[in-house]
Amino acid sequence: MNEGRETTIYMIRIDNDIYIGATYNIKKRTNEHNSRKEKLKHRNLYAKILESGVNKVELIEVHKCFTQNSNEKRLIEEEYRIKLKGNLNMYKCYLSTEDKRECDRLYYKINKERISEKKKQYYQKNKDNFRKKVKCDICNIEVGKISLPRHFKSITHLNNMKKQELAKTE
Ligand SMILES: [Zn+2]
Repeated sequence: MNEGRETTIYMIRIDNDIYIGATYNIKKRTNEHNSRKEKLKHRNLYAKILESGVNKVELIEVHKCFTQNSNEKRLIEEEYRIKLKGNLNMYKCYLSTEDKRECDRLYYKINKERISEKKKQYYQKNKDNFRKKVKCDICNIEVGKISLPRHFKSITHLNNMKKQELAKTE
């Protein structure tokens, strides 16, 4: 299977404004961004660069993945633009339902491993919580750790607490 081209999603941050882009070649793209500001000053990003007086913009890598075509590249870029609130991007391509679905699918595909690892960890953690028993000193019984909050609200526990309080004051 064709893996596609290595694609970098990058961020340019100037003050509190953010620009998100995608490129196959970050070095080349850095040069492009830095040589275009005069020519393209009508664009938000370059206007902002000129206004802030930054000499050289830095492209910060935020994500690396493989894309099959420019459409896929654009979708991932858009996903990150939304996620990272890229306000300097000129045209926000509003995603259609179809595109959104495609975006979700891609996101899932890219993060599949990470997601399944998270799920595994979550399951593992909860499994331990289910198994783990903790002692309630008031009732002198063992309760599953996960059901402890419920136990504290139970009538048995509350009655035992009352009994102990009474015993103390007597
Ligand atoms: Zn108890």
